[in-house]
Amino acid sequence: MSKVELKGVYMNYHTLTGETSALSNINLSVETGEFLSIVGPSGCGKSTLLNIIAGLLKPSQGSVMVDREKITGYSPKLGYMFQRDHLFEWLNVMENISLGLKIQHKLNEENKLKIDSLIKKYNLWDFRSHMPSELSGGMRQRTALIRTLSLDPEVLLLDEPFSALDFQTRLKVSDEIYKIIKNEGKTAIMVTHDISEAISTSNRIIVLSKRPANIKKILEVNFGPEHNSPLKRREAPEFRLYFNSIWEELDLNDD
Ligand code: ADP
Ligand code: MG
Repeated sequence: MSKVELKGVYMNYHTLTGETSALSNINLSVETGEFLSIVGPSGCGKSTLLNIIAGLLKPSQGSVMVDREKITGYSPKLGYMFQRDHLFEWLNVMENISLGLKIQHKLNEENKLKIDSLIKKYNLWDFRSHMPSELSGGMRQRTALIRTLSLDPEVLLLDEPFSALDFQTRLKVSDEIYKIIKNEGKTAIMVTHDISEAISTSNRIIVLSKRPANIKKILEVNFGPEHNSPLKRREAPEFRLYFNSIWEELDLNDD
């Protein structure tokens, strides 16, 4: 079933110096349980697209539907994870994770237990009283993800979630985060400029053109059951074929 649907989405930014056209006629349907990546050159409109799906920005034209209902602002069905983890440095891990529920006045016994179990399951229990500055980059991202998951969204929106990490850490963390998302049965829409990251995590990849972004290509990604995680996928022989086919489509040249 289609979980998220975009119909004829356009976005123009109006500034003092003029108009910037960021998105042009985006039509897209995301299935329940899917891990969809959106790749495109830097500045093409990826974050704009994700912000529109999140209901943080209103499109100039077109609509976004979640479960066939039009999105017009914040929806509890959607959870957002940004490029920077946005942890509050003066709150410890537990306090950071609980904050969303606290703000929504939903930090009841049941939800506290749910948070405890997520923290234990994803190996942060021993660090629950640590401050963010005492954590590795990977632990910070895991904390940010659990904070998002504590609100129990059905769809996770991820904007270049690993790009602030160094390469080695990024491989490990994307593997961990992928497994958590799958384990929790969430639908995911991830924006990235990293082709390998998209291939290693996704079952479908949308390739965007240069700004104003439109959809150049939609690619289905299939790996055998022995390549069932991002790290293992990177070792599959067909990985490079997918890479080349996206590379050819990606418009990375300056004019
Ligand atoms: P990406 O995430 O692919 O790098 P963005 O969606 O952030 O791209 O930006 C797409 C284009 O829209 C860029 O040219 C950017 O400068 C412009 N843009 C983004 N946000 C705004 C804004 N709030 N006001 C005006 N222009 C913006
Ligand atoms: Mg961006």
